[in-house]
Amino acid sequence: LPTQTDVLIIGAGAAGLMCASVAGKRGRSVLVLDHANKVGKKILMSGGGRCNFTNLYTAPDNFYSENPHFCKSALARYTQWDFIALVEKHGIPYHEKTLGQLFCDNKSRDIVDLLLTECREAKAQIRTRCEIQRIEPLDEAQAKGFVVHTSLGKVVCESLVVATGGLSIPTMGATGFGYDLAKQFGHNIIPTRAALVPFILNKRALARQQELPGTSLAVNASCAEGHFHEQMLFTHKGLSGPAVLQISSHWKEGMPVTFDLAPGLDLSDWLSEQRGNKQESFLHTVLAELWSKKLVQFFLQRIGLDSKPLKHYSEQALKDVGEKLQTWTLTPEGTEGYRTAEVTLGGVDTNEVSSRSMQSMKQPGLYFIGEVLDVTGWLGGFNFQWAWASAHAAGGEV
Ligand code: FAD
Repeated sequence: LPTQTDVLIIGAGAAGLMCASVAGKRGRSVLVLDHANKVGKKILMSGGGRCNFTNLYTAPDNFYSENPHFCKSALARYTQWDFIALVEKHGIPYHEKTLGQLFCDNKSRDIVDLLLTECREAKAQIRTRCEIQRIEPLDEAQAKGFVVHTSLGKVVCESLVVATGGLSIPTMGATGFGYDLAKQFGHNIIPTRAALVPFILNKRALARQQELPGTSLAVNASCAEGHFHEQMLFTHKGLSGPAVLQISSHWKEGMPVTFDLAPGLDLSDWLSEQRGNKQESFLHTVLAELWSKKLVQFFLQRIGLDSKPLKHYSEQALKDVGEKLQTWTLTPEGTEGYRTAEVTLGGVDTNEVSSRSMQSMKQPGLYFIGEVLDVTGWLGGFNFQWAWASAHAAGGEV
């Protein structure tokens, strides 16, 4: 391990590697340390193995933070188009899957290789399996900087970048290290919470949906201020799929979540129309035009209705069916937690960090980038775009 470096970055994930390449290309000596056995583990497992590396429609509105203005500057100065240009420079094939989400055609490994190539060109050094033990600021009499004690030795650096990510997936190396370090230097931490995470339902609800795991449908999921029109998936533990992952970022314990099971349709009107044309048809047969038989059976049970020919329902009864199915409400028992969450809400309070450089306002030379900050993106490539953009902002300053 070198004993001295201009820039020391803790965390060789998306943000850490990006920052290393940018700072190295400015001629700064850069050392990246990670306790895991290999770099970019979350990138490798991201996007189902194909890394959803950015989103064509990235905008500040796609991020949650106590301070929604914080992300604007970095996102504007390093955009999705900048990262796409980098992907193209490396000849990595990619495609838009849906809703502006860009995925690798091949494997997430392509993105890790891109970052490692950039780091090599920037002459940044990377060491894995390195535990960070203790960090001390240099005396005021000396130059600004830090002494970082690690399992591989002691390193003195001028700038220290914390890129240790959030708490999700501890088995992949996630720790609360970044938050502890921030606290050591007097930073406030916005309470953290697992997000982009499946819901768990209680035993009774699970017993009712035991035929359904693996079944999905388009819904409009709503909770608090959030509304997402996406797919929902029934699982053995509860509910998942993009609509549920997205809405989980708005959910707190005890809150109900409402699902419109026929988004974009006025189901009451539609059923009334059907009644006009198909008086003899059973309700379940008509609803099977919208959902699979299994789902229709489940939904009718949930609203406590027997299927009869449409002519046997009053106008009001059909209106009620429509309303019930468009406001299907349940209260999840919980979420699967950090074990499977894609991201962590909350983190280092952005009111104490410069939105231009990501530098701490409490400790000169200390920087926070990526998910450790209280900036959390929606599902769909936004979290990586934040990692790239915040890393780029810091890389230009460290
Ligand atoms: P990370 O990439 O998590 O990197 C942090 C690094 O710090 C890790 O290498 C870790 O080992 C290291 N570290 C942690 N603690 C210490 C310590 N104490 N000492 C030394 N090193 C330490 N986002 C998207 O935009 N698109 C996707 O397709 C996507 N898919 C995802 C799929 C899954 C299953 C998960 C879990 C997340 C996914 N995300 C996705 C979110 C995305 O991976 C993260 O937001 C992003 O990786 C954050 O980047 P980061 O550099 O801040 O942190």
